[in-house]
Amino acid sequence: MTDKPAAPPGRSETREIIELRRLRDEQPDLASAVDLQIELLQLQRRVLSRVPLPSIKLDTDYLNGLLANGPILQFEHLPIEWSDVRFLLRATAVAMRNHEALEEPDVRRIDALCRDAARLPIVLRSWYESVRPGGSRIDPDAAGLETVLQQGMRPVLTRCADAIQAKTDLAAWTHHICPLCAGEPDFAVITPAAERLLVCSRCATRWRFDQMACPFCLNDERSKITSLASRDGRYRLSCCDSCHRYIKAFDARRAPRQVMPAVDSIATLPLDAAAIQRGYQ
Ligand SMILES: [Zn+2]
Ligand SMILES: [Zn+2]
Repeated sequence: MTDKPAAPPGRSETREIIELRRLRDEQPDLASAVDLQIELLQLQRRVLSRVPLPSIKLDTDYLNGLLANGPILQFEHLPIEWSDVRFLLRATAVAMRNHEALEEPDVRRIDALCRDAARLPIVLRSWYESVRPGGSRIDPDAAGLETVLQQGMRPVLTRCADAIQAKTDLAAWTHHICPLCAGEPDFAVITPAAERLLVCSRCATRWRFDQMACPFCLNDERSKITSLASRDGRYRLSCCDSCHRYIKAFDARRAPRQVMPAVDSIATLPLDAAAIQRGYQ
């Protein structure tokens, strides 16, 4: 593993880490999850400042034209620096194992992948493309490692997403998958105007979606959606009684700060437990 020079801290990431430390003080039960999240953010920050722009024409008309045909960002567009990705995948796997969030055999699978220069691009491409509508099945070498791959690719994907979003009008996109990378949402924000934005699990892009419908199976029968809220009202769960999946939301109408998915996904772990206890996934 090569040692990478530390990048200067970005302002928003520093705020996230401050909020995470506050969360750990307030809820000691979450300490291990908070510490892991801080480690992952710090690892990603070391790489983020070096990620180049995506290999795609950053022209508004061109990008809006692509968006009319589906998610914009193809695997070929990703500016992957393989030594950085290998560094992040290995370091992510070790950090997750140290916090009991990954089993030892999976750490070894990541290590083997990182040593195989021919397989790694094939496996990463398969992971990236398998979520596209009509995409092929995920490579067996990627199956079960999705969380590690997602964390390892995060700096590349968020960098691409920021560059493309700055030039693209996402207002017309109302589908349930990410307009850029085709990923599933894993969080939502309810805005002060009571609109719902979904947050991509892979590239963190936000886009507007129906206020009530399930973003996984599109069920929109009000009687088949169960809502739960945290005691302070800051977070809401939307559970689908059709596909039995759920999505968590940050209710900006009830919060003193803006959403920070890296913090709020950890602060809502007790809500995950409540949903799982009720039989949702
Ligand atoms: Zn995305
Ligand atoms: Zn559903």
